[in-house]
Amino acid sequence: KPIVAVVGRPNVGKSTLVNRIAQTSDAIVHESRGVTRDRSYHDADWNGREFTLVDTGGIEPLKSEDVFSASIRDQALAAAEEADVILFVVDGHTGVTEEDETVARLLKRVHKPTFLLVNKLDNPAREQERLWDFYSLGVGDPMPISAHHGHGTGDLLDKVVALLPDETEEVDEFPDALGVAIIGRPNAGKSSLFNKVIGSERSIVSDVAGTTRDAIDTIVERDGRHYRMVDTAGIRKKSTVYENIEYYSMVRGLRAIDRADVALLVVDSTVGVTEQDQKVANLAIERGCALVVLLNKWDLLKEERERERVLETVDRRLTFATWAPVLRISALTGRSVEKIWSLIDDAAAKRASKVSTSKLNQFLTDLREFGHTIVDGKRRLRMHYVTQTGTKPPTFTFFVNHPDLLTDSYRRYVENRMRATFDFAGTPVRLRFRSKA
Ligand code: GDP
Repeated sequence: KPIVAVVGRPNVGKSTLVNRIAQTSDAIVHESRGVTRDRSYHDADWNGREFTLVDTGGIEPLKSEDVFSASIRDQALAAAEEADVILFVVDGHTGVTEEDETVARLLKRVHKPTFLLVNKLDNPAREQERLWDFYSLGVGDPMPISAHHGHGTGDLLDKVVALLPDETEEVDEFPDALGVAIIGRPNAGKSSLFNKVIGSERSIVSDVAGTTRDAIDTIVERDGRHYRMVDTAGIRKKSTVYENIEYYSMVRGLRAIDRADVALLVVDSTVGVTEQDQKVANLAIERGCALVVLLNKWDLLKEERERERVLETVDRRLTFATWAPVLRISALTGRSVEKIWSLIDDAAAKRASKVSTSKLNQFLTDLREFGHTIVDGKRRLRMHYVTQTGTKPPTFTFFVNHPDLLTDSYRRYVENRMRATFDFAGTPVRLRFRSKA
């Protein structure tokens, strides 16, 4: 999906704009794909054109000026690198600031379609002069908007979607290939792992164009099976100076996840599972990917204590994915790298699995008989029946008498019971509760 990034210094109204676009009729912001502290990612569509809106809004100015501008610079660079269209937001009331100029300078270098949005102009007719000031930034015609009131956002969206690249329809030579995304923080060892994989004598490798303009996928054939390693261009050849920016790797990982069946989360064992790993794993699961956790650089852990510490971070940070297999590897020595394939196959198979209605009914009977239920005053939750309504990942719809009685902990309870009954190792499952029509 094309990416529209919202950049600008703090407090100019980026988040308000994103929320505004979210609320503008037709632009549906589907469930937010994991809101991080610093950024949020939204699936939006306008007149049927889908795009991902990246809000870099939450970055708060740090006290030190230097660090502050460095963070703006990083954001702007990273956004420029990845985005198809950039929305550069400035504040019409404060006028042009030095920070705006810094951002503008960076954006000018990258030649991406950029809209200069002058925000907080609630009455553009009377505030023309304020608008003109912004021509000095040299990034095109300033457009007045009011993120708060919504003026100008419809026009803006029309122009934005007109500039989004066409999703080229290509013939997929390997329609049955499993999509595999290698995700994780910079330096975790993603490139090393990938190189090990393609360097293996057992792998037959070919490059193919990905579905988006600049993505290159690698098809790996192993024992007659095809795997599409998604968006490996950046992983194979570390080209840019932006590689170390977490944001960059995050956005790229996100794109890869979109097209993957299985996500391989590469964790640096000398660091353990970090908050960033946690976020990206969560995103992969939200997008319906199966998940395999690879504890890389295991060769560097000499002491038992260190190993335990890493496993402890897995337990603590990946509580939402206790079902994901965890493999200790070394991309450097090749230790256990060959084992990833069976884990990938297995997770993908579970993700595509179907459970027969009779087995589901048996499950429900057992749950009624031996399980807990929810009682609220006179009302008692009853599950009438359950049916599988989707795969990849397996999705089950339970028809119940009072869906509003459902609590998160009860959902988890039912999921755990299902996982204990059926084998869903490696895949997320989705449970929906509907009232019986
Ligand atoms: P990426 O940013 O995730 O692609 O990480 P790289 O593959 O570039 O690896 C970062 C650094 O870690 C490089 O210096 C690698 O040589 C090193 N590295 C990667 N995997 C391993 C491993 O399993 N063991 C050790 N000892 N070093 C590793």
